[in-house]
Amino acid sequence: MPSLQHTTYDTIIVGAGLSGLAAGIRLAHFGQRVVILERHQFPGGLNSFYRRNGEWISVGLHAMTNFAPASQRHAPLSRLLRQLRLRLEDLDLCPQSFSEIRTPDAVLRFDNDFSTLQGEIERVFPRESQGVARLVEHIRAYNAIDLTARHESARAVLARFIASADLVDALFQPIMYYGNACEHDMDFGQFCIMFQSLFLEGFSRPRRGMRPVIATLVNRYRSAGGELRLRCGVRALDTTGGEVSGVVLDNGTRLTARRVLSCAGSLETAALCRPAPPPDRPEGKLGYAETVFFLDCEPCELGHRSCIEFFRASPRFAYRVPDQPVDPASGVLCAPGNFQTGPDGTERNQLRVTQLASPDYWFGLDAATYAAAKREAMDQQLAWLEQRLPGVAAHVLDRDMFTPVTVHRFTGHRNGSIYGSPEKQRDGRTPFRNLFLAGTDQGFLGIVGAMLSGVSIANLHLLAE
Ligand SMILES: Cc1cc2nc3c(=O)[nH]c(=O)nc-3n(C[C@H](O)[C@H](O)[C@H](O)COP(=O)(O)OP(=O)(O)OC[C@H]3O[C@@H](n4cnc5c(N)ncnc54)[C@H](O)[C@@H]3O)c2cc1C
Repeated sequence: MPSLQHTTYDTIIVGAGLSGLAAGIRLAHFGQRVVILERHQFPGGLNSFYRRNGEWISVGLHAMTNFAPASQRHAPLSRLLRQLRLRLEDLDLCPQSFSEIRTPDAVLRFDNDFSTLQGEIERVFPRESQGVARLVEHIRAYNAIDLTARHESARAVLARFIASADLVDALFQPIMYYGNACEHDMDFGQFCIMFQSLFLEGFSRPRRGMRPVIATLVNRYRSAGGELRLRCGVRALDTTGGEVSGVVLDNGTRLTARRVLSCAGSLETAALCRPAPPPDRPEGKLGYAETVFFLDCEPCELGHRSCIEFFRASPRFAYRVPDQPVDPASGVLCAPGNFQTGPDGTERNQLRVTQLASPDYWFGLDAATYAAAKREAMDQQLAWLEQRLPGVAAHVLDRDMFTPVTVHRFTGHRNGSIYGSPEKQRDGRTPFRNLFLAGTDQGFLGIVGAMLSGVSIANLHLLAE
């Protein structure tokens, strides 16, 4: 029997990405009548999954940041799990063994014990180790989640502590790739959040990819009474008198709620509003192309042992929208099978190569040239991989690629940008009294960041009577 669907709710959530699911769980726990509306056939948003040749593949998953053992009760991940009434075991995480930052002149290893990176900096950049120790003290003391903090250039702050441009760029490689919506520089508060979550806490990876993690979140949400509608896009948000008066679905159905939480992105949400408010921030343009190479063996059998490698071939790290389809000068290489106890299933045999991509180039292609351009870009990424790991090409059974166009098609994010607009709305407010933002454009990025965003915006704005 079909379940009864209401048309009036306490809260309507647009998007079943990680922020929407986390917010929904929180609201359902407090007895709210809440519905999550998701246009795609699967939940998970930017970190969803798809089926290929009979196997479930996680979209783009490299690692979860913020790893903390259950004994660290005050760590952000532990606090998040308590808010969601989940246990660490529910996520079935495998910690990383180690990862690396590669520059043309140096290799820095790091793992989930910060002293490893400190030792590496001491070895490769002995003159910088005191400055780095002072920077870390400064980061630990900095109130990075102050919603009223003024923008401060991270490059300018780092220049006060570190003289070597090579080391500054090395630290920026993982931090920018895993959580920066701005070209070249970033806000120091965001830098602190990322430094903490990558280096002071660390990486893990769900043993069987994102699908079981998302299933756990959806089960928690539904068992608390929340409603999830998939293949159910929001076409418009009707507004009157400074608030959202109705939510119109793609099929024309109209729902109402006291409050609406949108996880679709800031400009994307504004574009849904009727009438639409004037755009109040720049569009994000930073996007990635990633090829997943499916091998006939595990990467460690070919001598590759790191979990994540952040590489740079150029003397300086250029984090910006490239003027070519895919920028070969830097990127990330992920080997899921190298996480400590190894994931089950085919992910063990994958290698993922991720690099900056030009949205203008990819969105400008027609269907036939798009397919050919993808093949060319995958060849280019394989050639890079072959240089890094000679002989690997002979072990590639299959390959699959996403571009900014793919990200746009499945999540609706403008330009297929992963981290949204460079200007965040930290308090989640919009020009409309009962419409709030969570997720990417609120400012916390990544899997754990998105969930923290959903929970904190729910606590801040949506639980009040
Ligand atoms: C390829 C890739 C790899 C990544 N890898 C990692 C990683 O390894 N580790 C990590 O920590 N982070 C990673 N990230 C980043 C991470 O996925 C995101 O920061 C996080 O998932 C964002 O969640 P969100 O809830 O803010 O937004 P989203 O995931 O974008 O969720 C928004 C949802 O809203 C839906 N939606 C939009 N418009 C509408 C509408 N009108 N009606 C209904 N539904 C709508 C979308 O379909 C989407 O499901 C990756 C991102 C990508 C793209």
